[in-house]
Amino acid sequence: MAKNIDWANLPFGYQVTDKRFVANYKNGAWDAGELTSDATVHISECAGVLQYAQTCFEGLKAYTTKDGRIVTFRPDLNADRMASSCERLEMPVFPKERFVQAVLDTVKANIDWVPPFGSGATLYIRPYMFGSNAVIGVKPADEYQFRILVTPVGPYFKGGVKPIVVRISDLDRAAPHGTGDIKAGLNYAMSLHNIMDAHRNGFAENMYLDPATHTYIEETGGANILFVTKDGKLVTPKSNSILPSITRRSLIQVAKDYLGIEVEERKINKNELADFAECGLCGTAAVISPIGKIVDHGTEINVPSGMEEIGPVLKKLRETLTGIQMGEIKAPEGWIYEIK
Ligand SMILES: *Cc1c(COP(=O)(O)O)cnc(C)c1O
Repeated sequence: MAKNIDWANLPFGYQVTDKRFVANYKNGAWDAGELTSDATVHISECAGVLQYAQTCFEGLKAYTTKDGRIVTFRPDLNADRMASSCERLEMPVFPKERFVQAVLDTVKANIDWVPPFGSGATLYIRPYMFGSNAVIGVKPADEYQFRILVTPVGPYFKGGVKPIVVRISDLDRAAPHGTGDIKAGLNYAMSLHNIMDAHRNGFAENMYLDPATHTYIEETGGANILFVTKDGKLVTPKSNSILPSITRRSLIQVAKDYLGIEVEERKINKNELADFAECGLCGTAAVISPIGKIVDHGTEINVPSGMEEIGPVLKKLRETLTGIQMGEIKAPEGWIYEIK
């Protein structure tokens, strides 16, 4: 039985669901792992994660399709990305096949929490790993825990997709040659003060520049950036300190193969901002979130698509990708994993 929840008014928040997956790494090996009802983590007061922030995570969703199947989207890419995060943080990789299977098993164990088709809500899936044994001298932990929790989340946009206002940031979210390209909790700790400051000043997000020269556009604290040129090309920043968004990579393929849109991945100078026709953020949470205005130290750049609605090219891209995720449009081979 589906849970009795007002799906359309659900916030983007955490709530305890029935089961979560837990596997432990000890003496150089992962154990078999299990689904448990215990929603509390039990670790040393001196755990590596608590002292030196040795942790990384992933985020993906499960959906109910129009014909009533329950599916998830490209979990293999989350497994790959978590493997690169782990390697960079000296953490043991949780094997790809096991990662994907654990995602499917965890959703299946919480099937009543998957929101119905058409509600706008989805089941958010959060795989994460952390150093769990005591570490006081600076070194990687010897023991790790890999967990997957799921929680239903409401529609990202309640009452329609609305453009947001962002500012060009003076602070950085990542260092040059740092950890910007992995999904480490530490990148988020870095950005919390800046996002709160942005909100206090009336901006929805910070648009970060390349940390070495503050010349080129990178991304926001938790989403990649897309631009559309006046002649209808999709342009997205290229940099090795940007997190490789699975939504962005999927949208690029959708643009080329489904919509015949030309795509450019290149450095984007902040002086070019005024030349684009459309601009938006992309990530698992919102798919595409349109930007209506960019403020660069008092100079307002009004994106031609405006503050009322998403521009036509980003709208088409958003509808096509969500159509693929919700089973209304035929997906490329291997993108959709069926759970039920
Ligand atoms: C997770 C994340 C994204 C979005 O990635 P998706 O795979 O599309 O959800 C973008 N930027 C940062 C910094 C992120 O952590």
